[in-house]
Amino acid sequence: MLFPTHLAAAYVLGERWDLSAPLLVAGAALPDLVDKPAAMLNLVDLYQTAGHSLAVLAAGFAVVFLRRAWTPLWLGWASHLALDAVHMIVNGRPGDLLFLAWPTITHVPAVSLPPVAFARHYVGTPSFALEFVVWGVLAAMLLGRRRPTKRRDCGRS
Ligand SMILES: [Zn+2]
Repeated sequence: MLFPTHLAAAYVLGERWDLSAPLLVAGAALPDLVDKPAAMLNLVDLYQTAGHSLAVLAAGFAVVFLRRAWTPLWLGWASHLALDAVHMIVNGRPGDLLFLAWPTITHVPAVSLPPVAFARHYVGTPSFALEFVVWGVLAAMLLGRRRPTKRRDCGRS
């Protein structure tokens, strides 16, 4: 999924579950904020490593267990991994789910591109259509929140 869609989905979850939306959004941003720069700086070979690892996510759960206030951050992080997994399945790349097993299993993904090149490749894929669902839910939620303004009757005729 595209980075902004991860943030939108986390915001929707925060509103839906009545949890801290800022923490959920920060958690959803975390995997890409860690992994993409690391790959672009050639610190690692892949664009999905530690931030996208189930093992690291599980270690993060231990922290959440001790600091429950961080639960939304962890849930946002988990939502990012779940949406990335959904995107790969929808786009016919189930083998790339092995990204979740980093560092235990290192695989060569079918698509490994820096963020801008990835976005260009991704537009028009079946998973890209799913992004509209996330944005549609967010729009419906935000529009549903707006209340009609009350008209004041000034008593003039
Ligand atoms: Zn990701």
